[in-house]
This record gives sequence, C-alpha cells and structure tokens, in this order.
Amino acid sequence: MIKNIKLYLFLNIALCIITVFIIAVYPPPQTVSSILTIDKTRVKQADWERQDCLGVQCELCPFRCFLSEGSRGICRVRMNVAGRLRTLVYGQPVSVHIDPIEKKPVYHMLPGSRIFSIATVGCNLRCNFCQNWEISQRNPEETREGDKILTPEQVVEAAIANNCNSIAYTYSEPIVFYEYVLDIARLAKQKGLRNVLVSAGYVNREPLKKLAPYFDVIKIDLKGFNEQFYRKVVGGDLKYVLSTLKELHKLGVLTEVVNLVVPGLNDDMQEIDRMCKWIYDNLGPDTPLFFSRFSPQYKLGNLPATPIETLEKARKIAMDIGLRYVYIGNIAGHPGENTLCPSCGKMLVRRYGYTILENNIKKGRCIFCGREIPGIWDN
Ligand code: SF4
Repeated sequence: MIKNIKLYLFLNIALCIITVFIIAVYPPPQTVSSILTIDKTRVKQADWERQDCLGVQCELCPFRCFLSEGSRGICRVRMNVAGRLRTLVYGQPVSVHIDPIEKKPVYHMLPGSRIFSIATVGCNLRCNFCQNWEISQRNPEETREGDKILTPEQVVEAAIANNCNSIAYTYSEPIVFYEYVLDIARLAKQKGLRNVLVSAGYVNREPLKKLAPYFDVIKIDLKGFNEQFYRKVVGGDLKYVLSTLKELHKLGVLTEVVNLVVPGLNDDMQEIDRMCKWIYDNLGPDTPLFFSRFSPQYKLGNLPATPIETLEKARKIAMDIGLRYVYIGNIAGHPGENTLCPSCGKMLVRRYGYTILENNIKKGRCIFCGREIPGIWDN
C-alpha cells in the first residue's frame, strides 16, 4: 500500500516537472515569445487580466491568451511582464490623421464632418487582405523608434484644435489598444466630442459592455459569413463577431456593418443572402450595410479587384430582403454611395467619394416626407 502511494507521488511529481519543462521550452501555441527588447518604462498595466499559477491570462478577446513570463498575445501588444498583464502601446499611436468621416466608412453620423483618427500597432486577427497590415501586423518595437507619447489629454486637445467633432479609433484593431481607447473616449465625451470605433468585433462581452457607452457609432467589419473562411483567411471564429453584433444591438449602440467582398473567397451569393437575412433578423432593417470593393494587396495581391457587378448583386440581395440602407463602398460616383429615403424614395444624402454634394436630412428627418432616419445628423 505504502509502496503504491510512493509510486503515485513519484509519478505526479515527474508529470509536473515534465509539464513545466514543456511549457518553458514550447510556449502555448497562441502566444508569441518576445524576441525583441521591450522598453519597460513604456508599458502600462492592462485591463482584463486573470492571474493563474503558471502565468496570466488576457480576457479581452476570444483568444484568451495564456501568457507565461515574457510572452505576449496573438495581438503582439499585450504581454506578461514580471507576472502582470501589460499593454505595450498605451499612448503610442503610430498613425494620426484627420479624415472625412465617410472614409471610415460611416454614413449615418454627421455627413461631411472631420474626424480625428488614431491607431497604434497590433491586431488580434490575421486577414490575408488587410489594408493596413504595415501597422496591424507589426510589433511595437518595429515602429516605435522616434515616436512620441501622445496622452489622452493631448489627443482630445488636438481633435478640438483641428475642428474635429469626433474621434475615430481605427486603421489597425482598436480593441487591442483598449485601455488607451477607453481613456481617450471618456475624456472626449466629457469635452463634448463623439467617438467612433472601427473594429472587427473580436472582443469578449464584458470588455465590450464597458466600452460601448462611450461610443456614438461602432463600425464592425463582418468579413464573411462562413466559419471556414473566417478561420482560414481571417484567423478567427465568425461566431464571436456575430455575438458582438448582437450585443451591440442589445445595448442600443448605432452599428454600421461593412463587408469587404473578395473575389473567389467570400463572394458566394448564397452566403451573402444568409448574411443579409441574419442582419435583418438580428440587427433590424435599419442597420446600414456596406459592400466594399477589394483591391489586390498584402497576401492577396494575385487576386483581381471586386467586379462592380458582384457588389451590385450583393446590394440587390440585401435590399430585396428588406435592409433599408445598403451601400457600395470604394467606388466613387456609384449610385450605391447615396442615402435614399425608404418612404418617399427621394435623395437624402448625395455623395461622391468622401464629398457630400447634398444633404436633405434635417433634425433627423427626411425634408420631403418627414420620415425619421436612423443616425446622428446634428452635432
Ligand atoms: S487581446 Fe491580445 S493578448 Fe488578449 S486575448 Fe486577445 S490576442 Fe490574446
């Protein structure tokens, strides 16, 4: 009996030693060991940390990366430093611009207005067609040199000084610079500015619920409607993005959806039909939806640009299902850029690319028939 207990204890201890050895030599597959030097004065405590006996876990997004000492998450910008979860990009934007709001694209908030737009490096997804891969797929160390810190106060001051009435968190994936977004957004609200989040929606429910009240519009990239496509080309699971969309609808946040149509990968019309029906049933007919044109780039430089007819077919499917505001993106001058009144059919907002040629919405209503149009139309 005693012999058996001893053997049992011996086997358990041996198993523990082997496990620790394996973790030390081969970090868990979802993490990336830090091979670059971190400037420890530029890291900040991150939210959504869960302590574990073998390290920390990040609970910000569905990957829930487990991070042993010195390793960082899939997003490259959250790391276990001295046993705590740290963000490596707080206050360190690598892209700061003033854009027309139509460039986001956001069509149902203050047409023609200027929006102060910022991004740090990092993303938790790996889209093969990423338009901003130079910043989204980089480590902070690769772009940091010479960069200046921009505090939330300075971002808000700069937005006001440049006559912007809103701030966009955009270009890369703002969820991964969550703490910075939240601090700026809170301050911006206090100063009377509006906030727009442009995201792929790959975030857990609790962090989303904390962020949402500060946002006037959230733009979600719904990259397709096929689990396999999401796993292979995007690097995530579709079901989490759909949960985000449902949660935003429940929270009452004005949400616009964009679908970049990539030839041969997500342009199946039956799939688009299922996606539009899902949007209609779960988010409602007033949800603005964009079908945007893909241009060959990043890992998909071999594919052609999306044919205009494909976008037109997709738009027709969405409108036949009953979605009221369906747009075509990335084709300046296409009639699918305009907002028409669903009741009287008259032109509400006429656009040419990022330029507003006509705006017939007053106090949130069509000036011709008085129908209420969902959105934020007056500052
Ligand atoms: S935010 Fe980054 S570190 Fe956190 S779970 Fe997602 S990928 Fe991992």
